[in-house]
This record gives sequence, structure tokens and C-alpha cells, in this order.
Amino acid sequence: MHGLMMDAPLLISGILEYAAKYHRDTEIVSRNEDSSLNRYGYAEAAQRTRKLANALSRLNVTAGDRISTLAWNNHRHFEMYFGVPGVGLVLHTVNPRLFPEQLVFILNDAQSRYLFADACFAPLVKGLRPHLPQLRGVVFMCDRAHMPEGFPDALCYEDLLAPESDLYDWPQFDERMASGMCYTSGTTGNPKGVLYSHRSTVLHAMGVNQPGLFGIAPGECVLPVVPMFHVNAWCVPYAAAQVGAKLVLPGPRLDGPGLLEVIHGEKVSIGAGVPTIWLNLLNHADQAGQSIAPMSRVVIGGAACPQTLIERFNAHKALTVHAWGMTETSPLGSISVLSDHHGSLPPAERMKLQLKQGRAPFGIEMRISGPDGKPLPWDGVSRGELEVRGPWIASGYYNNADRSQFTADGWFRTGDISTIDAEGFMNIVDRSKDVIKSGGEWISSIELENVAMSHPAVLEAAVIARADSRWSERPRYLIVLREGKTLSGPELKAFIAPHVASWWIPEDMIIVKELPHTGTGKVMKAALREQYGAEVHPEAVKLTL
Ligand code: AMP
Repeated sequence: MHGLMMDAPLLISGILEYAAKYHRDTEIVSRNEDSSLNRYGYAEAAQRTRKLANALSRLNVTAGDRISTLAWNNHRHFEMYFGVPGVGLVLHTVNPRLFPEQLVFILNDAQSRYLFADACFAPLVKGLRPHLPQLRGVVFMCDRAHMPEGFPDALCYEDLLAPESDLYDWPQFDERMASGMCYTSGTTGNPKGVLYSHRSTVLHAMGVNQPGLFGIAPGECVLPVVPMFHVNAWCVPYAAAQVGAKLVLPGPRLDGPGLLEVIHGEKVSIGAGVPTIWLNLLNHADQAGQSIAPMSRVVIGGAACPQTLIERFNAHKALTVHAWGMTETSPLGSISVLSDHHGSLPPAERMKLQLKQGRAPFGIEMRISGPDGKPLPWDGVSRGELEVRGPWIASGYYNNADRSQFTADGWFRTGDISTIDAEGFMNIVDRSKDVIKSGGEWISSIELENVAMSHPAVLEAAVIARADSRWSERPRYLIVLREGKTLSGPELKAFIAPHVASWWIPEDMIIVKELPHTGTGKVMKAALREQYGAEVHPEAVKLTL
């Protein structure tokens, strides 16, 4: 027997209309490219988003088409977050820091119809445009005065909105329709598209808002430093609107002084971002002898949270909330929030728990599986691949039949190796993929290895992640030389520099006699990291003099 309750679809447009109705004047503050601040309330944000919806309906698109963005965290991007899915299109947020070839692949694979870009990305758009045959137009997210030159056909965001009505009847449709799209980093093979639905997004936003998780409450002020092109900025724009919390969008200014200015000026109470961003902020605040108050809660994820970061936030009387997630998990998969009874633990024990990635929130199930696919015990010691399932976990990839990341019984295989203790605290101990996560961005060890291995003096090269107090991780070369050959640090750097992004170039290398291999010929990275992964190593040779 079915229950006799109304079946109202969970749609993203409903979140904004809720905020506009009940939190009209609560502000969304956004930093423009010229560093000035844009400020309006949810009611005005909704009016402009309805104008955008009318404008989108006039573009050459049909329901379900992908609309891509190349944009920082700003108010126009916020309007796109609601307007695009609201009319039944799919918001495809693209990471402008990717290589042009990856961007071309992603935009073509997504069959993007329109590209909405911040004006500062005009040079990037210029390079991409000839390679995007399916694209019907480019819209720069600025006013007429700031339109980049050299784009006679490009549309202007503010010109699109200007003539439109601020009334719009949001269509009601099946909550399982696609709302957003984000590509994984694709360090092995091509990036893969994760396709969020209205239902998964609304449930996820409600999930992160639970007290004891992100717990965003009305009256709070939230600063998502995590980019809006990365997993819906951890859903913070949706979660904030859902409770009518003030939102501060920092634009392109993610440096310590820029962040501290808005934290003080806008009275930010909760922030969300990767460890590196927070280290920059704390370094600046401590050097300047300034407090980070009133920010008193900081959500940290995307990479493991180092102990020093928790300690430094403690010194500022700010609570760190360590979370784990992936593009495929919307992203919240687990969160390390302590319970009352942990209060009686010695500080060192509490710290150990905070350093873990934590427990799954209600809605998400997790388990660890051994190499034979059998579930492992929750004893805090057994290590296995972490698998998750739930209403905001991907069930497949867009336009990709590969099911290797899904188990036969329908769980998502994360590729992260972890333990789970008796209380359910999950701890990532390794990654089955060997990418290096530096400052929240991926560096592919394979690409760096391939370049080095084409040097005539190099017999074999491996790249591992070494610890780094600023960037979390940095790549380090381990090089086996050909017999009778020598190689200096600067020689290696000069050789690889033309082939990779400058921030990928490792700071140092270690010359080794040989690399350990598995039975199937793969380099044993875990063993190498254990031996050579410390930030400072006596045998490390700098790549610059
Ligand atoms: P992405 O899909 O780019 O967000 O990357 C997801 C990956 O980041 C995960 O599979 C983990 O390897 C890593 N990750 C995310 N959060 C954490 C965390 N709190 N601790 C350790 N690794 C993390």
C-alpha cells in the first residue's frame, strides 16, 4: 500500500524560490574581476535568474542540452547554477585549469551547446573555439563595457538579461532529470562525465545541511572557496540557499589577503575549501598578526587534512570539519565530526579521529572490500578499496559504457584504499591511483614519467607524491640512469619544461639504482612513497640550482 502523501518533485528551481520568498534580503556577496564587490539579496538573485531563464529559453537549445561554464565563484555563476537546471538544461561546469586538449575533449564529449565564460577566460576561449564544432555560441558573463575584443559573434550576459521579464514559471518535471555535469580529472584515460540529477542535488544539499555535518544555518555566512567548477562547489551554493544563509563568493581572489578581507568584511562564519587554500590564509593571518574571527567552522576536504592545519585552526578557535568525497559522490561521502562521548578522550586520541575522513552521513553506505571483492571487517586496521552507494552517488558515467568502477551488486568503487574502525570512522590510507594532489589539483605521475623517460640519460623514472607543508603533496622524481650517463637537476628541468605545465614540475629528484616492481611489472609506488615520500630527503637533488 502506497502512503497517501503528495509527490512533489525535488527541483533545484524550488531552492532559489524558497530563499527568495523567506530570505529576501539575505545577501549574496560576490567579488568581481576588478576586485569590487557585487551585493544583492536572494529576492534580486531570483529575479535575475528568472530573466536568465527567459533568455535561455530563447537560445537555440532543447531540454537536456548541456550549457557549459568557465567561471570563478561569482554571482552570475550562481544565477547559472539555478537558471540552467531550472529550465531543464544541464549545467556543465568546466575547470579552466585543465590543459586545452582536455578542455576540448570534455566540451565535445558533453556536446556542449553554449559556453558561458568569465571575460578573463577570453584567451582560453579563443584557443578552444575552433575545436568545438557542436558549440552554437559563446556568452561572456559580463556587461557590455567589459566584453573582450575579438569576438564579434559572442553574446553579452547582461545584454541577454536586460530585455527579459523577471517573471518565469519554472517547469515541473521528473526530479530524476539531469541537472548538472562535472568531469572527473581523468588522470588515466579520458576524463569521465558525472551527471547529477535534481533529486540527487537537492537531497545532497539537505544532507550536508544536517546539524553536525556542514550544518549551515540561517543567520550564518558561508564562504565556499572550493571552486564552483569543482563538484558544484561541494553543493554549498544550493545548501546555503536552502536555509537562506548569506553567501560570499570570492571570485578569482583566493589568496590569503583576499580571503581574509572578505572574512572580516562580510563576517564569514563558515568556510569550505581544500587544505592548501587554508594554509595560505593562515600563513597570511599569522604573519599579519590578525585573527580569522568570526570564521569559526572550516570544512576541509579534497585532500587529507594535515594535523598542523587542525592545530593552527584550533589556535584561532576555529573548528575543523574534515570531509571526504569525490566528483562521483556529489561530493559528500564522509565527514569526521566527533560525538559527545569523544570529549572525554585524551587530546591526542581526539586528534587521531579528526584526521580520519570520518563517518558516512545518513543516506550513504560504505564498505571496504579486499582484492577478492569480499567485505573486510571494521577493525580500523584491515585495508581495502572503499565502496559507497546512496542517492547522491553516481550510477554510471555519461556516454561511457565502462562499468569497471561499479561492482556487480551496484556499489561505486572509489579507488581509495581505506580502513574503517569499529565506530565507523573511515580513514584513507592510500589511493589505488597514483596521481599527485597538489594544492587541490591533480598532477599525473604517468605523464611526468613519460616525459622524463624520453630523456637519453634516463632508463626508468617514477614519480611519487612527497609530503609538502604548503601544497599537501608535490611530485618527486625517482630516476634510474642508463649506464655511464649522468643527469643534473637543471638538465632534467630544462628537458621536461616544454612538455608540462610549470606547476607540475617537481622541485627535486632522487637518483636510485633500481625501482621495485610487482609481479606484473608495475612500479611499486606505495613502497617508494614510504621510503622517499618525506618532504625533505637527504638524497634529493634540486631541479634548480
Ligand atoms: P575529485 O573527484 O577530484 O574530487 O577527487 C576525489 C579524490 O580526492 C578522492 O578519491 C580521494 O582520493 C581524494 N580526497 C578527497 N577528500 C579527501 C580527504 N579528506 N582525504 C584524503 N583524500 C581525499
